[in-house]
Amino acid sequence: MSQSFYPPQRTLMGPGPSDVPARVLGALARPTLGHLDPLFVGLMDDIKALLQYAFRTDNALTLPVSAPGSAGMEACFVNLVSPGDKVIVCRNGVFGGRMQENVERCGATAVMVEDDWGQPVSIDKVAEAFAEHPDASLLAFVHAETSTGVRSDAAALCALAREHGALSIVDTVTSLGGIELDVDGWGADAVYSGTQKCLSCVPGISPVTFSPRAVERINGREHKVQSWFLDMQLVMGYWGANTKRAYHHTAPVNAMYALHESLVMLQEEGLEAAWARHARNHAALVAGLEAMGLSMAVAEAHRLPQLNAVNIPEGVDDAAVRSALLNEFDLEIGAGLGALAGKTWRVGLMGHSSRERNLVSCLTALESVLGSQGAAIRTGAALPAAKAVLAG
Ligand SMILES: *Cc1c(COP(=O)(O)O)cnc(C)c1O
Repeated sequence: MSQSFYPPQRTLMGPGPSDVPARVLGALARPTLGHLDPLFVGLMDDIKALLQYAFRTDNALTLPVSAPGSAGMEACFVNLVSPGDKVIVCRNGVFGGRMQENVERCGATAVMVEDDWGQPVSIDKVAEAFAEHPDASLLAFVHAETSTGVRSDAAALCALAREHGALSIVDTVTSLGGIELDVDGWGADAVYSGTQKCLSCVPGISPVTFSPRAVERINGREHKVQSWFLDMQLVMGYWGANTKRAYHHTAPVNAMYALHESLVMLQEEGLEAAWARHARNHAALVAGLEAMGLSMAVAEAHRLPQLNAVNIPEGVDDAAVRSALLNEFDLEIGAGLGALAGKTWRVGLMGHSSRERNLVSCLTALESVLGSQGAAIRTGAALPAAKAVLAG
């Protein structure tokens, strides 16, 4: 006989999911409503308005896709890319590679702009790509590369796309709620995100927003969208404004309560205050790590406050450290990916995980585990350094 599953209370400081606050878990456990119940439809409208606030947009087509961030990514590509299109795709980490896959599976050509992992997307290279491929109809890039901890200049990249008459697809899965994100200010056209990073909601939902220009392109499509489930024209029959809400799929009703609660919490804190909290805790973590003798993998100007790539010191067993953190301290941090595997750790300070208690746990646990591994670190210096930053 199988038995009920009771997970331990981990501290989640990896690349997502982040710690889910009790308020959000509580919302998840409220009574399930029918997915066309007028009360639920009212909640859907409020979720859309809250997402407009979080994305900083007036886009009418703003909604949560009932599937994880990867589905939001796919929704943007399948609706905007048609067979034969040319799409400029920026790759400076794992997720740009997935964008290329999406483009090619839509029967289009991906023109790749490559930057080293750990570097931001080069604006000059993208400008050159547009000069060489004036027929490119889209530019796709990742704002916050979770695989490397690097932020790219979304405002400049969206402006470049507009200058060349192309639409932009922007991955903001790790940005939303953590760093400045301004969909209307940037003039971004198709933007997707996730719930389990800086919103600190449960995984499995993907907020998306499409500009009026993107909607125009979707409405003018000659080819049917290759995905039935993600076809925005069909999804709008369920989520759209001024429509008689019709069955398209059964929304994950309770997960939507959780998303609503996490967005209410973001609104209560205030977007700018949430960004400032992420920046402050990041500065404190870096001060603590550096006081311990560790170094950061990304240049200061391009660091993401919510995802901290830390160089693994010489001679330290990466996997052993991470399993000791998990087994002895119930603390999860992320491993390096791809080119950075074995070279970096990824310490997430996302959403509810970006708080003083977690900073203290992480620095204390890391100091203890590295010490018992015989790593050459300075003990006793990390916490005072971090606290000095928090004290301002
Ligand atoms: C996590 C992440 C995704 C994928 O989201 P899932 O919810 O895991 O499907 C996409 N892009 C970036 C930048 C991410 O960090």
